[in-house]
Amino acid sequence: MRRPLVAGNWKMNGTRKSVVELIDGIKGGLGHHPAVEVLVCPPALFIDSVASQLKGSEIRLGAQNVCQSTAPGAFTGELSASMLQEFDCCYVIVGHSERRHIYGESDKLIAERLAAAVAGEVTPVLCIGELLETRENGTTEQAIAQQLDAVLKLENGVELLRQSVLAYEPVWAIGTGKTASPEQAQEVHAFIRAYLAKYDETLANGVRILYGGSVNATNAADLFSMPDIDGGLIGGASLKVNDFVAICKAAG
Ligand code: PEP
Repeated sequence: MRRPLVAGNWKMNGTRKSVVELIDGIKGGLGHHPAVEVLVCPPALFIDSVASQLKGSEIRLGAQNVCQSTAPGAFTGELSASMLQEFDCCYVIVGHSERRHIYGESDKLIAERLAAAVAGEVTPVLCIGELLETRENGTTEQAIAQQLDAVLKLENGVELLRQSVLAYEPVWAIGTGKTASPEQAQEVHAFIRAYLAKYDETLANGVRILYGGSVNATNAADLFSMPDIDGGLIGGASLKVNDFVAICKAAG
């Protein structure tokens, strides 16, 4: 049984004041929520204050990226998994399409970041997904397979993915208001499981695969009702208390 996970990716949004209000609102709106795991991923500067605000709460804390190096040193602008751990982050997003496409992060670098997160005992949320032109030319599955292969070809790739969460995020649906239909999303989620099953059946059945891309309070329940969708990675709607709480409730 895969426990649904709803993760809010706040991206580069928030002020000291708005972050406090957002966390207060989510805590109050959710109450006790055993059926669904809820995660917030604030910008790094707010991690410490959010960690304090979340003390004693069931809401989990995550970061938006992690350095590929497990050793401290000359990696300007980066944060290591052990730093994230020390500041109560139990998850970290890796390979978000904005990191891939704005900052040019390669499949190889992303796989290394994922491995570093696992080594530091922070669970990676690995984002994979196709560009619009890829969907239109019918090569979505190849693109997804290539992104998964970058991890699978590491020596302990299967074990790394066993300790990860996947997020299928079609790039054309992120922040655009265009959501994949539940059927379109389910088709890719089922493909991901079938692809992983070629390597390891237990991994394929056990790994949680979130859907991300313009999920909102209205479309969440239909997406989450699909058999291979185990929750969502939420961008814009995770910044609005009522919408995020409604999305979390739709998953559990
Ligand atoms: C995201 O950033 O991962 C995302 C899915 O954004 P949005 O929900 O705004 O499309």
